[in-house]
Amino acid sequence: LTRNVKGFCKRNGLLTLSVIAVATGCLLGFMLRGTQMSTQAKIYFSFPGELLMRMLKMLILPLITSSLMSGLSSMESKACCRMGVLTVTYYLWTTFIAVVVGIVLVIIIKPGVGTEMESNRLGAGPVMTSADALLDLIRNMVPSNLIEATFQQYKTDLIPILKVPTKTIQPNFVYVVPDDSDPKGRRVYLELTPAPEVMYRMSPGSSQQMNVLGIVIFSATMGLLLGRMGERGAPLINVCQCINECVMKIINAAVWYFPFGIIFLVAGKILDMQDPSTLGKKLGWYGITVLTGLFVHGLILLPLFYFLLTRKNPFSYIRGLLQAMVIALATSSSSATLPITMKCLLENCHVERQIARFVLPVGATINMDGTALYEAVAAIFIAQVNDYELDFGQLITISITATAASIGAAGIPQAGLVTMVIVLTSVGLPPDDITLIVAIDWILDRFRTMINVLGDALAAGIIAHLCRKDFPLGGAGKVKMPSEP
Ligand code: ASP
Repeated sequence: LTRNVKGFCKRNGLLTLSVIAVATGCLLGFMLRGTQMSTQAKIYFSFPGELLMRMLKMLILPLITSSLMSGLSSMESKACCRMGVLTVTYYLWTTFIAVVVGIVLVIIIKPGVGTEMESNRLGAGPVMTSADALLDLIRNMVPSNLIEATFQQYKTDLIPILKVPTKTIQPNFVYVVPDDSDPKGRRVYLELTPAPEVMYRMSPGSSQQMNVLGIVIFSATMGLLLGRMGERGAPLINVCQCINECVMKIINAAVWYFPFGIIFLVAGKILDMQDPSTLGKKLGWYGITVLTGLFVHGLILLPLFYFLLTRKNPFSYIRGLLQAMVIALATSSSSATLPITMKCLLENCHVERQIARFVLPVGATINMDGTALYEAVAAIFIAQVNDYELDFGQLITISITATAASIGAAGIPQAGLVTMVIVLTSVGLPPDDITLIVAIDWILDRFRTMINVLGDALAAGIIAHLCRKDFPLGGAGKVKMPSEP
């Protein structure tokens, strides 16, 4: 066994280093928690981790645009259509299954029943509805300004509105509170900035991250059209192919920095963590329910679908994805992990290039099985805490809205916590009660992001298999990728 482990570590040096980095980060974080580090010191300490996140985010835009434009330009319309329909159908189906798994588990385990937890309500009032969320999703598909869609809008339009006692809140979490300055009395999403006791309002409709969905839709359309332009489109296709190759080379070089960055990313997060002793026992059971659901969905059901549809061993496929899953665990962002997922799919799993280039960016934006499962569990947990009986119709509503809310969630840390407001309001639960689960959300987020990434990557393998007749050459073997040093 020792020889086998040694052999595996030798063959997968980078993966081994990343896993060691996660463990070291946890250890370091817990060791330093007792030292009462100042906020300034924490910022300096987390700097290598911040650099890692910036590197990954830097690569998203060139990767998505160049992948989609060059990938789709060389595809037949019929093959493209088939791949698109299969991808979206598969994504919807697996997300729905994830929600059902979550609902079944939370009903069996009943983590919120007989609770001793205090809900920390901030008052009632009209909230963002599912219709608003759906409109936002469609709005994002059609960005009014393409350049603006690529921006990270960092708190430029935040207005300080509320002072709250530092104890009840946690830095960098998203809260939903009544916004007195909104004439319609709606609630808006809020983010707490590092300044400890002031909450800020984001103007409604402004997004906090790059509009990845809008960029995906635009680049896919451009790719399809370029392919139909014959010789005239060829120069731009060449440019996109060059950019894509360069991005993959950058990824191959940058990955060697990742283990170092991961240590500080993970340790920094643990330093900021709320004291676990303040958490109720029920919250622990809630966490166990979510994790069990993620385990069942990610390591039993999804591999089973993969096996049934491809007749190949899902676990040897998943082995090729471990590096991406570790990065997902460290960053909590499926968008930021996208470059590494792409690298793993092409180099380790040998998925057809054109398929990976389409299925992955779309999946990182709309396919979030882990998030959907968690939203359903959290909503029912909150109902249990409030002694609120949900009938069968309401369970169906939760399953539909949780699926929709996960599609609407961005691939960034804790986006699912924000879109959960839609699920809660759809069945008349108080949206302020997300404060009940906020304390452990950062850790659950990491695991659901892993499952989100796994779901996208397995989907790529399945779609590649189902569409193999459209891509007779198959595999990324024909792609010359620089091998790791
Ligand atoms: N962090 C998740 C992701 O990036 C989204 C969420 O569930 O909050 O996939």
